[in-house]
Amino acid sequence: LPVVAVVGRPNVGKSTLVNRIIGRREAVVEDVPGVTRDRVSYIASWNGRNFTVVDTGGWLPDSRGLAAAIAEQAQLAVELADVVLFVVDATVGITDVDEAVVEILRRAKKPVVLAANKVDDQKAELEAAALWGLGIGEPMPVSALHGRTSGDLLDRILEAMPEEAPRETIGEAPGGPRRVALMGRPNVGKSSLLNKLAGEKRAVVDSVAGTTRDPIDEMIELGGKTWRFIDTAGIRKRHKENQGADFYAILRTQSALERAEVAVILVDASDPLAEQDIRIVNNVIEAGRAVVLAYNKWDLVDEERRFYLDREIERQLVLARWAPRVNISAKTGRHMEKLVPAIETALESWGHRVPTGKLNQFFTDLVSSHPHPIRGGKQPRVLFATQAATRPPRFVLFTSGFLEPGYRRFIERRIREEFGFEGSPISVTMKIRE
Ligand code: GDP
Repeated sequence: LPVVAVVGRPNVGKSTLVNRIIGRREAVVEDVPGVTRDRVSYIASWNGRNFTVVDTGGWLPDSRGLAAAIAEQAQLAVELADVVLFVVDATVGITDVDEAVVEILRRAKKPVVLAANKVDDQKAELEAAALWGLGIGEPMPVSALHGRTSGDLLDRILEAMPEEAPRETIGEAPGGPRRVALMGRPNVGKSSLLNKLAGEKRAVVDSVAGTTRDPIDEMIELGGKTWRFIDTAGIRKRHKENQGADFYAILRTQSALERAEVAVILVDASDPLAEQDIRIVNNVIEAGRAVVLAYNKWDLVDEERRFYLDREIERQLVLARWAPRVNISAKTGRHMEKLVPAIETALESWGHRVPTGKLNQFFTDLVSSHPHPIRGGKQPRVLFATQAATRPPRFVLFTSGFLEPGYRRFIERRIREEFGFEGSPISVTMKIRE
């Protein structure tokens, strides 16, 4: 999906505006310094077009000061975005920081929509007009709080959006190197693994044209093929700088995930599974990417730990029970050779399509051997099934009534048993035919 990144100084109303745009109250405004939100991007739609809104505003300035912080925010937005939504507080007017942001946006040559926020009344209209002075086009007066004219703003955003997203999307570039993201909480060994895999043979490529930042992706040769490792600068950078839960780290991770086809999720096998590990797994599944689970630091796992680890996995990682697992050590190189086959399996599942005939034969058998329980004298049936999409696989069932969740889960389980899909999330939706 095309990406709209929202930029602006603190307190100009970015999160409120994001809420308006996505039509929910999800982008909770956290005014507590250092608070980290897991979610920074949201799917929005307007006039039948879907796009991703990335709120870069969750970051609060640290010792480096406001200007540096905003500059980084803007730079990042520019990297990620197809359209930048620049929010200025019309009641405050143009500040030095706003001007510095404009400089960055100009250099990047990405389309910019200027929102003059807090225009709650007629008087503020004039103040909004003063923002022509930024020299980046017409300020769109909005009141994020009252929802005033946000429709016009959305129209403007859509106009600025490229027809076909020029950035790499998952459907694109068949035959190009497959795109892999290394995921995992800090210190699980992502950069160690990257170094191990890359060895001598690597090429660094810039994935986004016209940016001034570090090169982002690395092409790495493994198992006789070239793979594109997404946003390795993010991995290396995070390593060099703070290891904490930095807002930008989350943002980069999110955008890496968006560009990747498959995520290798690293877990520190020597350490109890953390909530964050599970969130990352969830996130990847929700994003619909193929998954490989890599248990790193296996050199530190002894018998006792192994015992607990198995139980942890059983209990807490059921949601990814279908993901291939490799037990590796980035330090010793243990089982490195198992990584590529696991990635290939996951990618193959991710793109796999079950022919409609085969699928319906399967359902005919399933429905007769395991019919849906009778509810209120009725027995809903699966009439017809089709696989509507791949990458990830999505199944649509046409039914004669509502299938209860338990039965749908059963169906999903049976689909996996029958057709595999190791390493790929799948979804099953139903359409009720009256
Ligand atoms: P990142 O934050 O995920 O990139 O993690 P790093 O690659 O920086 O690794 C964090 C720490 O774990 C470093 O001290 C590494 O040397 C160590 N480490 C990484 N992989 C392994 C491993 O397989 N075994 C052991 N024993 N230590 C590891």
